[in-house]
Amino acid sequence: MERIPVAIVGGGPIGLAAGLEFERFGIPYKIFEEDPTLSSKPKAGTILPRSLEILKQQGVIQGVLREGLRFDEVHFIDRVSDRVLMRMLMHPMSDESLYPFILNLPQSDLEAIMAEKITQSKIGELNFNHRLQSVEQTGDKCVLKFETALGHQSIEAQYVLACDGGRSVIRHQLGIEMEGVTHPERFLVADFKVDLDRRAGRQLTYLSYVFDPDEWVIFVRQPWFWRFLIPILPDADEPVASVVIDKIRRVVKNPSLPIELIDMGIYNVHHRTATKWQDGRIFLLGDAAHLITPVGGLGLNTGIQDANNLVWKLAWVLQGWAGPELLHTYEQERAPIARFNARNQADRNRDVMRMKSPIKRTVRNIVLGWMDKAEGLQWQAAHVRSLLGTTYKPKPQKQSVFMQWKTARHFVRPPVEVGDRIPDGEVLDPQGVTARLHDFFDDGFLALYVQDVRTRPDLGQRIEGVHKWLLTRFDAAFDTHLRSHALYDKGGRLAKRIAAQPGSIYLIRPDGHVAAIIAEKDATKLPAIYRQQLLNNAGCPEPDSVHPMTATL
Ligand SMILES: Cc1cc2nc3c(=O)[nH]c(=O)nc-3n(C[C@H](O)[C@H](O)[C@H](O)COP(=O)(O)OP(=O)(O)OC[C@H]3O[C@@H](n4cnc5c(N)ncnc54)[C@H](O)[C@@H]3O)c2cc1C
Repeated sequence: MERIPVAIVGGGPIGLAAGLEFERFGIPYKIFEEDPTLSSKPKAGTILPRSLEILKQQGVIQGVLREGLRFDEVHFIDRVSDRVLMRMLMHPMSDESLYPFILNLPQSDLEAIMAEKITQSKIGELNFNHRLQSVEQTGDKCVLKFETALGHQSIEAQYVLACDGGRSVIRHQLGIEMEGVTHPERFLVADFKVDLDRRAGRQLTYLSYVFDPDEWVIFVRQPWFWRFLIPILPDADEPVASVVIDKIRRVVKNPSLPIELIDMGIYNVHHRTATKWQDGRIFLLGDAAHLITPVGGLGLNTGIQDANNLVWKLAWVLQGWAGPELLHTYEQERAPIARFNARNQADRNRDVMRMKSPIKRTVRNIVLGWMDKAEGLQWQAAHVRSLLGTTYKPKPQKQSVFMQWKTARHFVRPPVEVGDRIPDGEVLDPQGVTARLHDFFDDGFLALYVQDVRTRPDLGQRIEGVHKWLLTRFDAAFDTHLRSHALYDKGGRLAKRIAAQPGSIYLIRPDGHVAAIIAEKDATKLPAIYRQQLLNNAGCPEPDSVHPMTATL
């Protein structure tokens, strides 16, 4: 029987994203998809800044930027008063990310770009016509049984990634429940050819949420068409195309607007997450682990982060650099994020859009109007919404009211702490070429020494799987012999942004999250901290237990 390190079940966007993550670390993998081709359903259409960063690390960003539609302003509109209540701006994220914008692209186009990269791979494979029938775990392996065009096929894998979607066969076989809510209301998603740029009663951005107690609408501009999302009340009939077209004409206040329907579908609305994300050697990712209403455009974006979080950990375990305990942090870190995205982001969005009480609506409108004007609040909202603010705090602490007030009033950005994603600040590489910090942990950890190069910092010995770089405001002179390891930080901007203490070392994981911040006096302990304390700092909820990593240092 063929034996492989990793089997990925499901060739949807998250299975493909997981494959591309394994490419980053050179770990062989195989993807098994039941259908004969990729899905042609457009489904997800909105890719958030954090996902764009991950797609860059996965080597597919060029195609995504080429095919997609960029924009940096989301509108929240009150249909009753016909006012834009709040504009959420992404461009203030320019110091944080190379992609301070949202990008609209049909999911089917994204999948095609990802799959093209995988078909060129020397270590990965995308196999169509492979329907998983069963998976069993015995000892140090999993046995997967597939029904294929050529009959039954069995494969052994060390680890299995269940990326088989909302109806996951693997999740059912493992008896894992989904907890949460399915709403009685359903959503109609319709794609149209229509000229809303010039013929709507008001100009729309490429993502506009129109609030209304009875009939809210979301407008999403795609590269070749417009998409509308509207609710269908529990006892209402499924609308026919002409009814939907009338609704759209009413919302945009143009009764004779020419509209051509391309596609229409009705979806149940859930916010549910799996009660367990790991069972032995099997992991749930994407919709197999969480079902998030499309209102916030978060399902696919959350799934892309799942792959980004899990795969480096599997790579470290498979290379013998970490013990299997590291893998437990996947569920510990990702499940709370999925619950937050499903409930506090996507579902709250839906509640805010359809508020019925006039008093609540007035308060909502005042709060959003205030957020629209307060630069700091705008920034905070965009930081969370873009998923750039995703954090895996070891002990989640609420930001103090004082800090929130300072951020809102004075536009003070919160310091970067353990668990946070490190901003992708601009630096100059040793050749003087403009680069971004995230370029320096493509296939490993980054130990970032925030030290003045004139003090000749000692970067210590090489550690397997860790790249060491200096972040310095004074460029490294050639006689320091540190030039090849120094990143020039113009005006110390990046060091200031992360609020680094001089001399400190930031240990950054391959998924961009800070694993440890080490004071200058403890610099020599870096290898030990990497080996022994990494798991605690990386988000293990039992702060006293140490999970030794078996790194070959
Ligand atoms: C209308 C709509 C709009 C949306 N808009 C957004 C958005 O703007 N932004 C966003 O982030 N998310 C959005 N989403 C959610 C997003 O589409 C999903 O989160 C995403 O498709 C999840 O990807 P996945 O790979 O986990 O699952 P899927 O896309 O469901 O892929 C699972 C794959 O597994 C395969 N499979 C299943 N069973 C087996 C088996 N037994 N053997 C082998 N293969 C199998 C399936 O054929 C499929 O190809 C939207 C969803 C809908 C419905």
